[in-house]
Amino acid sequence: MATPRIIVLTAPSGAGKTTIARRVLQARPDVRFSVSATTRDPRPNETDGIDYHFVSTDAFQQFIAQEALVEYEQVYAGLYYGTLHAEVDEATPEAPVLLDIDVKGAHNVKQHFGDDALVIFVAPPSMDVLAERLTGRGTEDEAAVRERLERAEMEIAQADRFDATVVNDDLDRAVDETLAHIAQFLRR
Ligand code: 5GP
Repeated sequence: MATPRIIVLTAPSGAGKTTIARRVLQARPDVRFSVSATTRDPRPNETDGIDYHFVSTDAFQQFIAQEALVEYEQVYAGLYYGTLHAEVDEATPEAPVLLDIDVKGAHNVKQHFGDDALVIFVAPPSMDVLAERLTGRGTEDEAAVRERLERAEMEIAQADRFDATVVNDDLDRAVDETLAHIAQFLRR
């Protein structure tokens, strides 16, 4: 069987990993995005099957029962997110896959795939900047922003357990650094 090659971008919510993930996918057409399943509602700019597989809680529970998920988390109260085996199991050095998932999920993927996974932690420049970004994007209410900031502090404290850290203070530089880590990983 071909060696899987799993690239994981993880970060506190609002650190900019989704933006970095999009830029990585533009720069590396060989890398495919792993579309997660989630029970949260789509945002206005999101498309089912492209950004996420948007599913009901019942459908998500069926994925769990069928062992269709590599990992899953209740990332926020009542909202489930999970990585489907169908999205990652075919990943090879020629067709690697990119996951954009939360910190706990990243730990679980690393445990599952070991050296076949590269986990890059995207760190915000500071908690203040993170708070500004979360408030500024206007997709979460005040309570959700507070919940995400509290969670971020805990996640940043675990950053050194991953394979690499990229500080997202300057987007272009952060993308370049991420691409360099990926290139090195895929050469191995
Ligand atoms: P959002 O609701 O902002 O799209 O995502 C919330 C958080 O859930 C983000 O940190 C995102 O990376 C994470 N997430 C998305 N998909 C998955 C997944 O399949 N598994 C896990 N564990 N987290 C995910």
